[in-house]
Amino acid sequence: MAETPDTDIDVAARLATVRDQIAAAAQAHARAPNTITLVAISKKKPATMIETALAAGQRDFGENYLQDALDKIDALADAEPAPIWHFVGDIQSNKTRDIAAHFAWAHAVDRFKIARRLSEQRPDDMAPLNICIQVNIDDEDSKSGVAPPDVPELAARIAELPGVCLRGLMTIPAYSDDFEAQRKPFARLRDIQADLVARGFALDTLSMGMTADIDAAIAEGATHVRVGTAIFGARDT
Ligand SMILES: *Cc1c(COP(=O)(O)O)cnc(C)c1O
Repeated sequence: MAETPDTDIDVAARLATVRDQIAAAAQAHARAPNTITLVAISKKKPATMIETALAAGQRDFGENYLQDALDKIDALADAEPAPIWHFVGDIQSNKTRDIAAHFAWAHAVDRFKIARRLSEQRPDDMAPLNICIQVNIDDEDSKSGVAPPDVPELAARIAELPGVCLRGLMTIPAYSDDFEAQRKPFARLRDIQADLVARGFALDTLSMGMTADIDAAIAEGATHVRVGTAIFGARDT
């Protein structure tokens, strides 16, 4: 399939469509739309498209290739209002310092060692880095994330770290194009979160739902949907 060039993508119109979709899904499932944050996933897309989205009122942006992200963060350092940057990709040890220094959120933490480094390397003059534990909800070999039974112990250790704030859970389920099938892994993530809350963890974030499964994620309680393609168009692979 031929891709539409970035310059032909109407980011503002697509953003409006995604916002309408979120509002409709929220209403259908008796949720307040303002409890759902749209994180626009701008990976592999130019800073100019992020500027267009900012002008259209979008604040939260997600990236998952570190160098690409740092270039854009630098290019947009003086943007008003300032973007809120989310790192949504896997995190290797050699990336923690830059992530701790330049992002407000890290969504895909799945090892204590990484959380500890992020905590230690978070600059003193910044609020603690918000983090989510990535859960491998469908137990796929190819996917990052902790197995559901291992979540409570990792959460307990991360909750002790001063430089990070454990906010909740994140997942990327196995692909399905069926709405009811899409809901199941999201419902399981919500149940794991509810179990943690019952154990005393103060968590408020379920980072789940992408272009293909936004509605199912909202139906099951997503507080952060991470949407790339629907806003910025297809990416080069
Ligand atoms: C790329 C990416 C997304 C966005 O995916 P789309 O299908 O383009 O909406 C969301 N979350 C993560 C972790 C990603 O890497």
